[in-house]
Amino acid sequence: MSKRDYYEVLEVSKNADEAEIKKAYRKKALKYHPDKNPNDPTAEDKFKEAAEAYEVLCDPNKRSRYDQFGHAGMKGAANGGGFGGGGMSMEDIFSQFGDIFGGAFGGGFSSFGGSQRGSRRRVNRGSNLRVKVKLTLQEIAKGAEKKIKVGKYVECKSCQGSGARAGSSYSTCPTCHGSGQVTRISNTFLGQMQTSSTCPTCGGEGQSIAEKCHECAGNGIIRGEEVITLKIPAGVADGMQLSVSGKGNAGARNGVPGDLLVLVEEISHPELIRDGSNLLYSIFISFTDAALGSSIEIPTIEGKARIKVTPGTQGGKVLRLKGKGLPDINSYGRGDLLVNINVWTPRNLSKDEKQILEKLSKSENFKPKPTSKDKSFFDRMREYFS
Ligand SMILES: [Zn+2]
Ligand SMILES: [Zn+2]
Repeated sequence: MSKRDYYEVLEVSKNADEAEIKKAYRKKALKYHPDKNPNDPTAEDKFKEAAEAYEVLCDPNKRSRYDQFGHAGMKGAANGGGFGGGGMSMEDIFSQFGDIFGGAFGGGFSSFGGSQRGSRRRVNRGSNLRVKVKLTLQEIAKGAEKKIKVGKYVECKSCQGSGARAGSSYSTCPTCHGSGQVTRISNTFLGQMQTSSTCPTCGGEGQSIAEKCHECAGNGIIRGEEVITLKIPAGVADGMQLSVSGKGNAGARNGVPGDLLVLVEEISHPELIRDGSNLLYSIFISFTDAALGSSIEIPTIEGKARIKVTPGTQGGKVLRLKGKGLPDINSYGRGDLLVNINVWTPRNLSKDEKQILEKLSKSENFKPKPTSKDKSFFDRMREYFS
């Protein structure tokens, strides 16, 4: 089944601001809430569809990605970041956007459907970790593997993350009997409604520990470190954020780990300037080399290279070395290396040099005669940026 446009799902315009989107989502969520539509089997799908649309449109990054690439842009993101783009479970929806319902369903989320959907026991999620990684242009050109040591919360070895002292065990919470939720029936204008909230005794975990592990004080996690290998794709740029799922802080008591967010920092190249996937270089050559033709050495991302300067080269010419730039992270192919040639005008001439040049200056060949090939600076800039 093809997916509907997210803006269409929420019935908002493409220019809708955050508040409008939130409002529109709340409206849809309340309308299609499964508790309100016990006899409509499509309500849950519509409820999930709205949540998925909201998940994307409420996040500026995801939204701009969606605006650019549509649904295709939400899958297989280069950084492997866990973009939802579908498949959100009811638990995900309530844990992520529960606050948006603003207590419309009795504070906690509703136990629609009852116990056959499984218990709503709370799972502890570790927090995300942020690190910076510095990369040279050479590393960016090829893609890089970086090993980094990260200080973070890791599973407690003594209790294997359970938080319970060896020999002691978990017992089922007496208040909620293990479900993590306490349920109550209330009468509302919509009729009788079953609502449930987090169990106050066990904090939603459904279990309580008889005796806490001494190493981790019952948390199941302790400070530690991990060496993580980051695989950086070729073509990343300064300021990009990659996410490595599950490499953040461990979650308490055998919870789910958070993500590791990696901020890319580019170390600038001493000679080459980056412009997207193109590289720019500027060089002076002598007036005689420009007139007579020559071969000059230039830096490239792979090291030094020699290029030919044809006789009669004008100052300001830009030589384009196809494919000598950087790979593009969003597509195949590579950018170019653009070499800007400047002609050096000699200074502090000796008497002899002056005499020679004065003689040459009378020659008809030394007067400027630009042809269509000798484009102006503006023509070249226009071409370059078009
Ligand atoms: Zn422990
Ligand atoms: Zn409980």
